[in-house]
Amino acid sequence: MSRMLVVAGVSLLGLLAGCASEKATETAAKVEPAAEQKPVIQYVDTPTGRWMIHDENRPAPPVITPGARRSSPPSDAVILFEGKDTDLAKWTDTKGHESKWIIRDGYMESVKGAGYIQTKEKFGSCQLHVEFATPEKVVGNSQGRGNSGVFLQGEYEIQVLDSYENKTYPDGQCAALYGRAVPLVNACRKPGEWQTYDIIFHSAIFKDGKIVRQPTFTVIHNGVLVQDHVTLEGGTQWNGPHAISSFQPIPDKGAIQLQDHGNPVRYRNIWVRELKD
Ligand code: MG
Repeated sequence: MSRMLVVAGVSLLGLLAGCASEKATETAAKVEPAAEQKPVIQYVDTPTGRWMIHDENRPAPPVITPGARRSSPPSDAVILFEGKDTDLAKWTDTKGHESKWIIRDGYMESVKGAGYIQTKEKFGSCQLHVEFATPEKVVGNSQGRGNSGVFLQGEYEIQVLDSYENKTYPDGQCAALYGRAVPLVNACRKPGEWQTYDIIFHSAIFKDGKIVRQPTFTVIHNGVLVQDHVTLEGGTQWNGPHAISSFQPIPDKGAIQLQDHGNPVRYRNIWVRELKD
């Protein structure tokens, strides 16, 4: 599906202020615009029409039922978490301190206020397997229900959300490339059930401060293709410009992060295979 991004210099702070602020706190320091910089309005033209980012009226993807599936790591994978207490030695909080996420019964669980957890080791292009479960007891709605996320290079979020019979803006539902790409279908399992992400990620390449290759994302959710080699066409901030000029150079490798968004989301069986560019 081809699409065209349109970015126009029109004041829109009021509208954007009404959107949920995914990672807003963490990104605010990085994206604070210069005083003279005008806010921008962002649309995406699609076969179903022109949509603003986070437009709740945008058609949601079809809901399907995934098949049963369980993945074991291949022999060349780097095991990041397999359920042992000692696995947290491979992870820290974003300040490099011991994480306050808890481990029990073979999984780790986010703790409200503990902040993101991230790998000590840094990765660029990779194949990443993650299993997650949103809370069995349903609390909240929209972005407040089972919200977490998998971040690549500490920049790009594959959204984790309880999107089982839970309406939200489609570019922020489970398996969305947050604020950037709606999943092809909604392949969510019920709250409390274990789900899988298999992500194939090719990182951006920068030369002399400019991007020469945009990052791409393929995501398989519960065995179902939901992001099909999607090329990120602009920067990564949740409400930032959808324009290639907005890419800021980042290091070749970065931490894999799991988001604390205030909901107790569980993770297990996390492994990664580095890919050669
Ligand atoms: Mg999230």
